[in-house]
Amino acid sequence: MDRIKRFIDCFVPVSTCNLRCHYCYVTQSGEADNKLPEFHYSAKHIAQALSKQRLGGICCMNFCGAGETLLPPEMPDIIKELLLEGHYIMTVTNGTAKSRFDEITTFPKDILERLFFKFSFQYLELKRLNIFEEFFGNIEKVKKAGCSFSVELTPCDEEIPYIEDIKKLCLENTGALCHITVARDNTKYELPILTNLPKEEYKKVWGQFNSEMFDYKISVFGLKQTDFCYAGDWTCVLNIADGVLMQCYKGKKLQNIYSNLDSPINFEPIGKHCLESHCYNAHAFLTFGAIPTADKNTPSYADMRNRSCRDGGQWLTPKMKKFMSGKLQQSNRQLKKFDIYKNRLLSHICAGQKKKEYRDRYKKLKELFAL
Ligand code: SF4
Repeated sequence: MDRIKRFIDCFVPVSTCNLRCHYCYVTQSGEADNKLPEFHYSAKHIAQALSKQRLGGICCMNFCGAGETLLPPEMPDIIKELLLEGHYIMTVTNGTAKSRFDEITTFPKDILERLFFKFSFQYLELKRLNIFEEFFGNIEKVKKAGCSFSVELTPCDEEIPYIEDIKKLCLENTGALCHITVARDNTKYELPILTNLPKEEYKKVWGQFNSEMFDYKISVFGLKQTDFCYAGDWTCVLNIADGVLMQCYKGKKLQNIYSNLDSPINFEPIGKHCLESHCYNAHAFLTFGAIPTADKNTPSYADMRNRSCRDGGQWLTPKMKKFMSGKLQQSNRQLKKFDIYKNRLLSHICAGQKKKEYRDRYKKLKELFAL
């Protein structure tokens, strides 16, 4: 059985999109500049940089653009090479780039079963452009080709009058209600929920979709994570175009993994130094188990994505469901207390805080444990 070794969130630096959603994070930050990224490395080079051998095993890689992920023409090849390498690939998409789905669904069947699409259901934009048929047609296409999928709505106050229509469309076309995420206001450090509703009312309105994803996200939304986090080791954030690997969105830069394919990757967990006000993508990082101590009551990533359909089918294939149900601690060693202490001292030294005091303590520890 395939076990997840690492979860790598791959940022695709595309800042253009064919839709104009008002709650989009690119629109919020004013970064939309209609540019496609420049890839300086071939798909084969990228797959070599991310080989199973170099990463220590089979990984789950999530592709997400600032704009529409599948617009860069290089994306199908990159996805294919990484699937051929044996990894599981997730692609976030607005579901409208028909020619990309046409191309991807011609890949060999045995690699498509390790491919998952997260269709962002941009209801208001699809309605404005009258392209629901195209959107659901693309979902049907990847499903028929043997891929897994999930449909997710970004809830906004303007969609509330259309909730019954949203439910009907999803039930009729995908056999189940869509999942619901929690939209955030990216312009503030606290990253609050993007709504004018009081939190309890927001929970009531969007809770009616019975989405495990919404229930879990809202339960941890706004909570500062203070336990030891393995981001930087078990999970990472990678810029897929230039190869810069980071611990997490706001973590330290680990290295450029494309420049020298022979150099090992120096993974280094962020530990207790998460720089975010809260783990807004906890539905991926924490469900896969980046913080093992938070894991006891945490559902699996498969729970965030799957739905059982009216016809008895499921959105995830059995193989994908099994893989997404795995936890990172099943294939990674947790650090002992001493290692955690060492990691904390090193972080302080790196941050230049109380340099002398920490250096002396680390020196004593080194002598004591003959490191
Ligand atoms: S708690 Fe979440 S946001 Fe913070 S470092 Fe860990 S994975 Fe990243």
